[in-house]
Amino acid sequence: MPRHKTVIHWFRRDLRLTDNPALTAAAADGERVVPAYVLSGWKSAHGWTGGMRQQFLCGCLESLARNLESIGSRLILRCGRADLELERLIREAEAGAVYFNRDYDPYGREMEKKLREACARLGVECHGFKDRVLHEPDEVKTGSGGHYRVYTPYSRNWLSLPKTAPVSRPSRLGAAPEASLQSHPLPGLDHWKLAPTHARIPAPGEKAARERMKAFIEDRRLNRYGMQRDIPAGVTTSRLGQDLRFGLISIRELYARCMRAREDVSAPQERTSMDTYIKELAWREFYFAILWFHPEVFDEEFNPEFRGIHWPGRDDHFETWCRGMTGFPIVDAGIRELLATGFMHNRVRMIVAMFLTKDLHCHWRLGESFFMRHLVDGENASNNGGWQWSSGTGADAAPYFRIQNPWTQTRRYDPGGSYIRQWVPELRGVSPARLCEPPTDGRPLAPGYPLPMVDHATERDRTLAIFARHKDG
Ligand SMILES: Cc1cc2nc3c(=O)[nH]c(=O)nc-3n(C[C@H](O)[C@H](O)[C@H](O)COP(=O)(O)OP(=O)(O)OC[C@H]3O[C@@H](n4cnc5c(N)ncnc54)[C@H](O)[C@@H]3O)c2cc1C
Repeated sequence: MPRHKTVIHWFRRDLRLTDNPALTAAAADGERVVPAYVLSGWKSAHGWTGGMRQQFLCGCLESLARNLESIGSRLILRCGRADLELERLIREAEAGAVYFNRDYDPYGREMEKKLREACARLGVECHGFKDRVLHEPDEVKTGSGGHYRVYTPYSRNWLSLPKTAPVSRPSRLGAAPEASLQSHPLPGLDHWKLAPTHARIPAPGEKAARERMKAFIEDRRLNRYGMQRDIPAGVTTSRLGQDLRFGLISIRELYARCMRAREDVSAPQERTSMDTYIKELAWREFYFAILWFHPEVFDEEFNPEFRGIHWPGRDDHFETWCRGMTGFPIVDAGIRELLATGFMHNRVRMIVAMFLTKDLHCHWRLGESFFMRHLVDGENASNNGGWQWSSGTGADAAPYFRIQNPWTQTRRYDPGGSYIRQWVPELRGVSPARLCEPPTDGRPLAPGYPLPMVDHATERDRTLAIFARHKDG
């Protein structure tokens, strides 16, 4: 029996109806559920997001609104600070409780705290649920009850913990919110005063995300993941980053489907491949945990040894990198893939990030913010983790003296040049062998394509000197 006449479900990074613990609980506890989403109100420039991700969000909200209508409900959109808007909605709807799935980044936590305070003031129940992760930060503890700073022991523990099964999809949310409960119209990019984007971003919404999840498993890309995942050409990974970011699929369902598929294979190589995939999901949660216990990583290097290290990179070098005109084909291909699609392959993210920090000596925070403004799957915790890892300052990072050579990386991961030729059209007529080494004749690889902007060996030595000086002094 429902305990309340009306309850609110606050949609956040869980823009789906399937396997949504807070929504299912709200549907059980309330005679009717008012589904709400609070839009941010910033305008035109934001250091941490941009047109492609916001465009994807708009599509996801549209699809969520449609899905809610199909079960007789109506999405209420408000705009402003979440706690204040929800407080207003609680009063207007005369709600007895609010349900939401927990968020782990500092801003999300702050909003939850404020919402709890508002609910206490109003005498309304407030229920937070675990949803975004299989294991919340304080569930994965060291032997002495602390938290991990290194991925391998974290992942070993994470893998050994029992996993929660998915919950069912609510078939009804009660009567739709009455017409007097006002809703902001579904947003377009103009809501944030952002220019239209023509990027080829993935199809938004729960249905499209579920199809991507099923295809990844049914096409057997999961079975080959461990063998192919470092190849940037073609679709070799799951491409589910944005779906996990916006909660279009649940991590429980993804995990359960992968484990079911694993039971059906006997080839050891395929099983290992699947295990590699699961371990990537653990990286995601490792970085949530790092951010949870160390919110300072947004402002400074995680590794205390390298805090305050000087990054003497030049502004014009950073701008050249942002345009994908460095003269290093694999770096330029990565940036151009990002600008055209809002996605960049993981291996290339590492190459591009190391190049910015170790070859151009620019601060990792510049790259971190550039990625957040362009990645559709932009996720504060993973992005910060990836940048700090690449720059040698992060949790369990690549040691600062292990500096990837972009030319060698090309030979290893894009030997046929397919990835480079796809994203850097000027280089389509250049032989693969020439894409794997700097031009030796002083002439560009192709007309209109720049010479390498720096010499990798020289900049590598400079990086080693910068880190050594910082350590010594
Ligand atoms: C500099 C840098 C920045 C990054 N920024 C982001 C980001 O903003 N958002 C983001 O989701 N990932 C980020 N990553 C991690 C990784 O590149 C992406 O998760 C991955 O490329 C997404 O594509 P996919 O879904 O096909 O990944 P798959 O290889 O299929 O992996 C499946 C899922 O596991 C998770 N995952 C995989 N690798 C990592 C990793 N190293 N760290 C954390 N989670 C991981 C992601 O949720 C991903 O969708 C970054 C990595 C680097 C090096």
